[in-house]
Amino acid sequence: MESAVPQKKPSWLRVKAPISKSFQETRDLVRSKGLHTVCEEAACPNIGECWEKKHVTVMILGDTCTRACAFCNVKTGKPLSVDEKEPKNLAKMVAETGVKHVVITSVDRDDLSDGGASQFVKCIEEIRVLSPNTTIEVLTPDFRNKNGSIEMVAKAKPDVYNHNIETVPSLYARIRPGARYYHSLRLLEKVKEISPECFTKSGIMVGLGETKEAVLQVMDDMRCANIDFITIGQYLQPTKKHANVEKFITPEEFKYYERVAYSRGFLMVASSPLTRSSYHADNDFAIMKESRQRSLEL
Ligand code: SF4
Repeated sequence: MESAVPQKKPSWLRVKAPISKSFQETRDLVRSKGLHTVCEEAACPNIGECWEKKHVTVMILGDTCTRACAFCNVKTGKPLSVDEKEPKNLAKMVAETGVKHVVITSVDRDDLSDGGASQFVKCIEEIRVLSPNTTIEVLTPDFRNKNGSIEMVAKAKPDVYNHNIETVPSLYARIRPGARYYHSLRLLEKVKEISPECFTKSGIMVGLGETKEAVLQVMDDMRCANIDFITIGQYLQPTKKHANVEKFITPEEFKYYERVAYSRGFLMVASSPLTRSSYHADNDFAIMKESRQRSLEL
């Protein structure tokens, strides 16, 4: 069956071009430390807004991913060797920006025996040395078939452990062929078992052809895995080679998902067309902390 592919972005997805001075300063800082960012590699539409506020999501372990998901713009192929200086350079960048909350992600590194988990740990440790008051959020790959990797990162006690489910299970074979839905859920459940105080977070993209019922089922599955925070955003096709956008979800539909997700018991919900895993991560972290505090006082 041929699907109707929307061609033109609706008005609610249009963003301003990134031109501010503060944006350029952030870009220069990232370049000077030799770091990669998911903001650029994934062609994120929010880069103007985020970088103006020095909110950067650094992508560690290089710019080349060992998987080739149908939604993702990150380069795929044979990755370079691990940069030993990366954790220190990242920590210096965080200290120079003075941000209160930082998000670190990585490409998939199925070629490494620990999937890159030890590099996450080193980054957390180095940031804590230079910026002890900065809270740390990791957004990790699934570390599939790498025994001990999830545990290693969870034991380093990031403040937030994020791992994206990405889409509903029926679309995995087409959109996320190298991953397994239940493995991703179990990963987050395990993090909570190891470090109950750590906030867990996961996100999905919508507009890939999923049904509403399937999205609600994912919410239920996430709550069964004790996930605290759900993000829901519109999938955008990075290039013609990537999966088509099947539907532009309206802002009203995103509001509906937000209401339903809160009713399922998430501490925090971010659901809007431009929501991405790390969009407004600093503010959302503060709200989530307050929300947990309130629920403990009840
Ligand atoms: S939403 Fe995340 S990935 Fe996108 S620009 Fe902001 S920090 Fe970067």
